[in-house]
Amino acid sequence: MTPPLANSNAARDIGSVLHPYTDLVAHQEIGPVVITRGKGVRVWDDTGRDYIEAVAGLWCASLGFDNERLVEAAARQMRQLPFYHGFTAKSHEPMIELAEMLLARAPVPMHRVFFANSGSEANDTAIKMVWYYNNAIGRPQKKKLIGRVKGYHGITLAASSLTGLVNNHRSFDVPLPGFVHTMTPHHYHEARPGESEEAFADRCAEALEALILAEGPDTVAAMWAEPIMGAGGVIVPPRGYFPKIQAVLRKYDVLLVADEVICGFGRTGNYWGTQTFDMQPDIVTCAKALSAAFLPISAVMVNARVFEGLARESHVIGTFGHGYTYSGHPVPAAVAVETLKIYDEIDIVGHVRAVAPTMQAGLRSRFADHPLVGEVRGIGLIGAVELVADKETRANFDPSRKIAARAAKLCEQHGVISRALPGDSLGFSPPLIINEAEIDEMLDRVRAALDELA
Ligand code: PLP
Repeated sequence: MTPPLANSNAARDIGSVLHPYTDLVAHQEIGPVVITRGKGVRVWDDTGRDYIEAVAGLWCASLGFDNERLVEAAARQMRQLPFYHGFTAKSHEPMIELAEMLLARAPVPMHRVFFANSGSEANDTAIKMVWYYNNAIGRPQKKKLIGRVKGYHGITLAASSLTGLVNNHRSFDVPLPGFVHTMTPHHYHEARPGESEEAFADRCAEALEALILAEGPDTVAAMWAEPIMGAGGVIVPPRGYFPKIQAVLRKYDVLLVADEVICGFGRTGNYWGTQTFDMQPDIVTCAKALSAAFLPISAVMVNARVFEGLARESHVIGTFGHGYTYSGHPVPAAVAVETLKIYDEIDIVGHVRAVAPTMQAGLRSRFADHPLVGEVRGIGLIGAVELVADKETRANFDPSRKIAARAAKLCEQHGVISRALPGDSLGFSPPLIINEAEIDEMLDRVRAALDELA
């Protein structure tokens, strides 16, 4: 590996930036890929090399890497009112309009919207809302929260406690007390030999019920679930999973929070992943494609039951003592309003449904028989290939081989940015505007990369 030239972007990065989700020692030697511009589904680095962004950045750049309407919406709002807040009942039009638009599009009837800046903050907010709500309705002991092994809900203290991934816990001293995790609904690895998806889903629901009973139903407040587990490996739930899970939650009066941070706004072929998998959440968190990732913003939608509890308690206390300086910031809110208008105008859900077969069939036809690939999975415009050391036993590679990271690096050399995920998986969630020719090009390049790895 040749060291980066002095004063190059790479050398300056090595000398200054502490990177998220990066091996900080290896980075000192390998350095960064410095991205300088983007257009459509492609980005370019500072050597002039182009890549198809097969993960839409971090599952978020839904409209790709250029969009004049969003640029204009931000500029217009900056000229008009660059900042105002929502504390002490102050408001502004972009926040109001965005809240109305979200309520009108909500997957199940929702009553009010709270804004934050990131998916983690949205989930942290929802955690505090659940606690506040249970205090409000006189059950202060009902506070434990259930996540899932391999679930991802962000990295702030409470959100990372809900997250069920080793690297988000190890050495950070999380999860905090009061957070527990139920099993991953991954049929490929967790099902017993010959067990149908339905039977496996039953077993997942039984495991959830056993956990609630072991913890004490009077102590369990809510369960968090992504419709598809994204960062944990693009794990699609087995048939019938969520209705069975929800029957258990209802039995013990446990709320369901749908984390739509990745799945929201079309990714799974419906506006919400909640709709694709028949979920009836009490609270929905969303972010990322809410603003097409042009600016940071996230939202928490609560149903009438939860809102009434929050409102009552805030009235007793005199304030709902929670909020971020930039909750509902007018510029990202204006960009989000424009984003949702664009989704309507271009019928983003219709587009995803039209191109999804090219992505899903393309993944399967190119990779199902690949010697390194154990499982190909996905729905809509999200998918993954899982690399296995042994197709028969489905055993993954020894972690020291870092097989998914190596595969992702090779993909990069073939002009595709994909994402190495836990469980030796490579994840794909391209910008939602991707067309069929671009999907084919992306998958052909990935196939060439995996052939080189084999
Ligand atoms: N929830 C889900 C499902 C996510 O995928 C992510 C991020 O990838 C988050 C929450 C956290 O969002 P953020 O990184 O914006 O804090």
